[in-house]
Amino acid sequence: MPQGQHPIHALFETGSEHAPLAVLKRVYGYSAFRGRQGEVIDQVMAGGDAVVLFPTGAGKSLCFQIPALCRDGIGIVVSPLIALMRDQVEALKQLGIRAAALNSTLTREEFVEVRRAIAAGTLDLLYVTPERIVTPAFRDMIGTATIALFAIDEAHCVSQWGHDFRPEYRELGQLATLYPGVPRLALTATADPYTRDDIIDRLGLHDARVFTTSFDRPNITYEIVERDQPRQQLLRFLSRHKGESGIVYCLSRAKVEDTAGWLNEHGIRARAYHAGMDRTARDANQDAFLKEESLCLVATVAFGMGIDKPNVRYVAHLDLPGSVEAYYQETGRAGRDGLPSEAWMAYGMADVIQRGRMIDESGSEPDIKRVERSKLNALLAICETPGCRRQAILAHFGESHAGGCGNCDTCLKPVETWDGTDAAIKALAAIYRTGERFGTGHLIDVLLGATNDKTTRFGHTDMPVFGAGKDLPAKTWQSVYRQLLAAGLVSVDHAAYGALRLEADAKAVFRREREVRFRKDRPTTGKAARETSSRAASARATLDGADLELFELLRATRTTIAKDLGVPPYVVFPDTTLVAMATERPTDLDEMLGISGVGQSKLERYGEAFLEVILEHT
Ligand code: ADP
Ligand code: ZN
Repeated sequence: MPQGQHPIHALFETGSEHAPLAVLKRVYGYSAFRGRQGEVIDQVMAGGDAVVLFPTGAGKSLCFQIPALCRDGIGIVVSPLIALMRDQVEALKQLGIRAAALNSTLTREEFVEVRRAIAAGTLDLLYVTPERIVTPAFRDMIGTATIALFAIDEAHCVSQWGHDFRPEYRELGQLATLYPGVPRLALTATADPYTRDDIIDRLGLHDARVFTTSFDRPNITYEIVERDQPRQQLLRFLSRHKGESGIVYCLSRAKVEDTAGWLNEHGIRARAYHAGMDRTARDANQDAFLKEESLCLVATVAFGMGIDKPNVRYVAHLDLPGSVEAYYQETGRAGRDGLPSEAWMAYGMADVIQRGRMIDESGSEPDIKRVERSKLNALLAICETPGCRRQAILAHFGESHAGGCGNCDTCLKPVETWDGTDAAIKALAAIYRTGERFGTGHLIDVLLGATNDKTTRFGHTDMPVFGAGKDLPAKTWQSVYRQLLAAGLVSVDHAAYGALRLEADAKAVFRREREVRFRKDRPTTGKAARETSSRAASARATLDGADLELFELLRATRTTIAKDLGVPPYVVFPDTTLVAMATERPTDLDEMLGISGVGQSKLERYGEAFLEVILEHT
């Protein structure tokens, strides 16, 4: 074999086998490009730059992997995720791709081996950290080797508007001058326009073509509930996901630890992950999550970027994220494999107060604080919408959706609304009469006519509004205040400990010039609460009878192989491929190659083992 020729290319003689579509089939076992993958690949094959903004699970990796295989030289991938590089490289090796990672965790021998492979031209893909790639030492190492392309993964890390800002990403702007003429791709699942423009500016990608697709994730069911008894609510939610893996996000490290402990006591296998943990323990828990089939990972937002486990079946939030972008990014980690998955959140007014305080105390510039406050309000509006959640979320990203998606809580079980003009007037009056100095707890006491220390001390018991809201329960008043906030009729004064203030638009409500409708909160406990449960979310849900039985056997085979290799099961085959095997039941290796996700290399490695299981049970 001539030096530098790819072994996977060498399997075939004709030139057309180097074409992207042929590589897609032969290496990955897929029959067609998805969405705009083909266009991105054409752009890079022609030597151009690309900015790729696709949601999680859309298939961004292939956009740089395939041109790296088809073009001469090494494809260099910049990734901030050292802890995940080994798995990424291993997954590529399983596909017969010659990949390596260069980072601080390598042994001396491994390092020497990578350097040798670069010089010998026997690498297809090299993963590098952003801080290393711009160093003279790295340039030396590359020497005269040809570079096929640079792929800058998680490109939103370059922007301080994003939620994962990494200063070392800023240096990547130098790549254009350090390595002129090499195509560059920036890839991210962050859609927000500030971040996108920042990526283009900071990385000097003004001549790049920008590729976007719909950000809709049709296989994810959205549900947002009012927080009442959060642990019980979580437990009920998790009971829909027995035997599956998912992530539970909490705001604080302490809450992560407490929740994980509590879940274990209640029969759910859970592990914790947060930045305050000892590194070894944290990495071990991440590894367990990747490798095991049914584990609940309770985490702060420190966890998740770059996690490519395809069968995360649920993402639950016990606290409100800081923005729609963060919510969408975090929930987007569910269902990469395209199979039904759930995004569930429990939230309450306390979250809004807490998040607001975090923004206030962040020490950021006033401009940034203002943007962050409006981002938080946008999320609150989505939480309180009586309409389709998906429509509201996509609208935030500038995408129009007809609504009625049939796969969010409000579509599956439409919420009732009620004429809330009178209630709104009372709620606003309570704020006004008490001098815009109190939070919801006290305001509700006033409305309900609760005689206590505070209402007496401030003389609120003598006001006409005192007891004016006895017709409604406290829970409804909480809901009223949340919705007034979401509608922009009131705001929270964080400097005054969460006191509510009236906004200018509140006047029109007082004057009855503006009618107010509220959504009726659903019951959070009892039978009715359980009925909101959405579609069964599972790979298994798509199978029945004998197919399901076969799927479980294939899964067991996969577990054995993965354990032997020390890799996550999905690196062997994702669930979707096992589902296809169980339903299509190939009878020989040729037919096996026709299964989506079975390429040449995996056929050679595992074809026999899985075929045997299928033949035995057909
Ligand atoms: P992203 O990086 O955009 O989140 P990935 O690159 O991890 O997405 O791809 C998500 C899943 O979709 C992976 O399992 C991948 O193998 C699969 N995939 C990507 N492209 C295709 C395709 N053209 N046909 C079938 N499956 C695909
Ligand atoms: Zn909907």
